[in-house]
Amino acid sequence: MLEIHGLDAWYGPSHVLHGLSLKVRAGEILALVGRNGAGKTTTMKAVMGLIPKVGGSVRFLGAELLGRPAHARFPLGLAYVPEDRRIVPGLTVRENLKLGLLRAPRTIKEGAAIAEIAETFPRLAERLDQIAVTMSGGEQQMLAIARAMIARPKLILLDEPSEGIMPVLVEEMGRLFVSLRDRGVTLLLVEQNVEWALNLANRAVIIDQGAVVHESSAAALRADTEIQDRYCAV
Ligand code: ATP
Repeated sequence: MLEIHGLDAWYGPSHVLHGLSLKVRAGEILALVGRNGAGKTTTMKAVMGLIPKVGGSVRFLGAELLGRPAHARFPLGLAYVPEDRRIVPGLTVRENLKLGLLRAPRTIKEGAAIAEIAETFPRLAERLDQIAVTMSGGEQQMLAIARAMIARPKLILLDEPSEGIMPVLVEEMGRLFVSLRDRGVTLLLVEQNVEWALNLANRAVIIDQGAVVHESSAAALRADTEIQDRYCAV
């Protein structure tokens, strides 16, 4: 579904991705792990067109993404939940959700889309008219995910969704990801919480120093504590 081939990325003179290649298959949860600074966030940003200087190839459903403006990705069925969530202060939960529809296909009707989201995210359904930033961090993370989901993407990129969230909501989020996958949504999950991610994922990729150093089933990596200690220890 997503094929990253020979991806290079730079921040000014600093070369941080070195010919990185990986594939995300339709219908899977792929966990992307590795220690701090390995290049996970940069990989997601490069896919989303948010790094000015990149090289290589990123194909989504056969279409080359590099060189297209960032906003051109949403109509293709790609969604992104960045680490900082980008909830708009002053707006309610419902208003934040509507922002997710701005670039959605016109066939998606607002009322039906919000009703669908309310069914999938009961915590948000109870809070549609609440100012979004008055919710807990975990609820705001759920809103960021819901806002990405409302346009019915085929692939969603999630950057450390469990970070700083209370355990009960992390568990709820895990169940949500599995149910989205079961409904045919593909997920690329960057996580520091390796154990949690490997329990959800089908496959796992480890990045180190801007390149892929390991690729296997999530179960195989879960069992391989040596590799985990070598590349994922903080
Ligand atoms: P973390 O979990 O800490 O976010 P990561 O694997 O997501 O780690 P990246 O954020 O992609 O890593 O960072 C990869 C490298 O690029 C690091 O060496 C980092 O210091 C550097 N880097 C990240 N953002 C910038 C930036 N805006 N300017 C310069 N260098 C950056």
